[in-house]
Amino acid sequence: MQLYSTNNKEHLVSLKEAVFRGLPEDSGLYMPQTIPVLEPDFIQNLAKHSFQEIAFRVADTLLQGAIPEQDLQTIIHKAVNFPAPVHTLDEHTHVLELFHGPSLAFKDFGARFMAQLMSYFNRAEDRELVILVATSGDTGGAVAAGFYQTPGIKVVILYPSGKVSMLQEKQLTTLGQNIAALEVNGTFDDCQALVKQAFLDPELSSAIRLSSANSINISRLIPQSFYYFEAYKQVADGKTPVVFCVPSGNFGNLTAGLMAHRMGLPVHHFIAATNINDVVPAYLHTGQYLPRPSARTLSNAMDVGAPSNFARMLDMFITENGSTWNNMTATIAGYAFNDEQTKHAIREVFDRFDYVMDPHGAVGYLALKQYQREHPHTIGVVLETAHPAKFLDDMEAILERPIEIPERLAALAHEEKVATSMPIAFPAFKSWLMDNY
Ligand SMILES: *Cc1c(COP(=O)(O)O)cnc(C)c1O
Repeated sequence: MQLYSTNNKEHLVSLKEAVFRGLPEDSGLYMPQTIPVLEPDFIQNLAKHSFQEIAFRVADTLLQGAIPEQDLQTIIHKAVNFPAPVHTLDEHTHVLELFHGPSLAFKDFGARFMAQLMSYFNRAEDRELVILVATSGDTGGAVAAGFYQTPGIKVVILYPSGKVSMLQEKQLTTLGQNIAALEVNGTFDDCQALVKQAFLDPELSSAIRLSSANSINISRLIPQSFYYFEAYKQVADGKTPVVFCVPSGNFGNLTAGLMAHRMGLPVHHFIAATNINDVVPAYLHTGQYLPRPSARTLSNAMDVGAPSNFARMLDMFITENGSTWNNMTATIAGYAFNDEQTKHAIREVFDRFDYVMDPHGAVGYLALKQYQREHPHTIGVVLETAHPAKFLDDMEAILERPIEIPERLAALAHEEKVATSMPIAFPAFKSWLMDNY
């Protein structure tokens, strides 16, 4: 398998290089040079396969021999170790629950697969790899759980003191072993600046093998294509068109769906759902792409004003002649909703179906319903990207009733936090790294 940069298709690298680099030097994004198509027989017989078997077959096809089959089996086995069940609201409306992993959000799929790939590619090295991550909350939890107990890899998570929720903090600070948490006396931007400075410091980079767990790493995107096949298997009836609705921020999840489509999954249409940070739906309506600073909303994991994967989306629809915009709008529809509409949707889904949807999923539900007004004879699948208990206070205020907290999240409240306080000072951070790794 080779990957190019979206800024230069001549610049090819191996999967290993793309995974460790994260970003090409020209600031493009890595994309597979070819996206192979699965055998139609496999797609027609998805129902005969388990989620893990499907994940293996999709990965093996896409990776084109970059990892030997036996090793890839082991990686899939460890990375995809929780289900992606579909919950049916009615015959047209299905919810793909992506929150059954350790951090209760779909980012667990990407983080776990990335951890396994890095560990695999690192196996021949005699020096351990130290991953630095700055987090404003959610990503850190998924990365911590994803890399926990991964041989040869240590993780250092920097988070802003007092600016993450109690349960988020516990997700970062209670695992221990190869996961260390630094509680930075500053903001998320301060955490990110410390990480950036570490990568630029020659003394550090020669003393420690450093890498990042960046959200645009191709190894986080690949596993997100697996569950589109798994969902299709659960809902398709062989004749009614299937559409996927994806609550989006940086558009990694939707891009992974486009990859599944390219690999032969017969998706009739994709729906991009956003909150008021609507630069992609606006592009789909007008043809103008105008990134802007993000605004804060209830569905805050989607508060993105300049979606990082948009370059990948464009790349997938560029043709020699013909308009990229025409190509994209033939496959993707986009809709945006505000917080009032989102709250209303959460109440509606609860009242009509006795089902609790989180604010991100609720934006998706609204977009699916809007699309289906014009396309009623479709099977719609909304990706539910996080468990509602992750947004406990908002959810309880909206529904005016207590929300059930999954056991594995509730148990965290009683675990002891272990974190090292860190001032916003690079010398202190550097000497801590030098002393500990
Ligand atoms: C990250 C996140 C999203 C946005 O996903 P993208 O791949 O960035 O579009 C949506 N919902 C939740 C809960 C998330 O954590």
